[in-house]
Amino acid sequence: METGRIIKGLSSFYYVKNYEDNEVYECRARGIFRKDSISPVIGDVVEMTVVDPVTKKGMIESVKERSSYLFRPPIANVTKALLIFAVKSPEPNLSLIDRFIVLAERERLDITICFNKVDLDTEGKYEDYVKIYERAGYTVIAASVKHDLDFQKIKDEFKDNITVIAGPSGVGKSSLLNKIDPKLNLKTSQISEKLQRGRHTTRYAQLIELEENALVADTPGFSSLNLDLIDEVELKEYFVEFHEYDHECKFGFKCIHENEPGCKVKQAVLDKEIPNQRYESYLQLLKEIRSDKKRRY
Ligand code: GDP
Ligand code: ZN
Repeated sequence: METGRIIKGLSSFYYVKNYEDNEVYECRARGIFRKDSISPVIGDVVEMTVVDPVTKKGMIESVKERSSYLFRPPIANVTKALLIFAVKSPEPNLSLIDRFIVLAERERLDITICFNKVDLDTEGKYEDYVKIYERAGYTVIAASVKHDLDFQKIKDEFKDNITVIAGPSGVGKSSLLNKIDPKLNLKTSQISEKLQRGRHTTRYAQLIELEENALVADTPGFSSLNLDLIDEVELKEYFVEFHEYDHECKFGFKCIHENEPGCKVKQAVLDKEIPNQRYESYLQLLKEIRSDKKRRY
């Protein structure tokens, strides 16, 4: 039995990069999966048997345990989320960043935030954004495709990871990836539309191999931004800079840092130790989760 990773799926075929010979095999999955209702997805590490070494055909025998699982589109074993926004044109929607962060934290992904187009940043906005997100413990990178900045840092982020990229269209995601690996040759300004259309017609996604053991999902990591799976009391877990205060709240772990007396998180916001922006995002998401629940029951 050989081991490999599914890098592409197309109807009932899986394309598996075999770790033994580094070749890609077109595989089917044995029926045994249906019994456990596991269906293999891209990113999965699988055990496979080679059916035909010449035409590179194989059979997936089993799927190894997953370290993470993103639903839409399904990708297993993602380790990192790279959130890309622009400092300007379009201006970053910070509450959208916070929403991506919640979804990525929930999957325990390593999170890096990249602000592109710093060449347009005449007002020094980047410094404000760095403060907010470094305070939360995330790596923040300034980038400019125009000024060739700071691709090495981004490349280093990809190394030894399976990365999903998320961010609104027009921020320069395709331009950045093309700079990092010119042979990708992604169409700029159009790629997001193209991917969106693709997603509705065929269920197709793939992992692109950049150099140095770096795989990147070619679809946005969180196409669906709903918070369905998240509980009201769970949300605070994903605002990591709250953690150093929340055990001191009067109501302890029951405190959701909203209107409770003796809430240390709220105090930290007043003392400007937690950025107001982050706390506002938290309250907004809390509200959304509640109204979602109401609608469902
Ligand atoms: P995507 O939709 O996120 O993939 O964004 P694109 O890569 O298609 O880029 C959108 C537009 O922004 C294009 O016109 C790019 O030329 C432009 N752009 C990308 N990066 C930069 C940058 O660093 N500085 C400036 N000034 N423009 C950029
Ligand atoms: Zn509290």
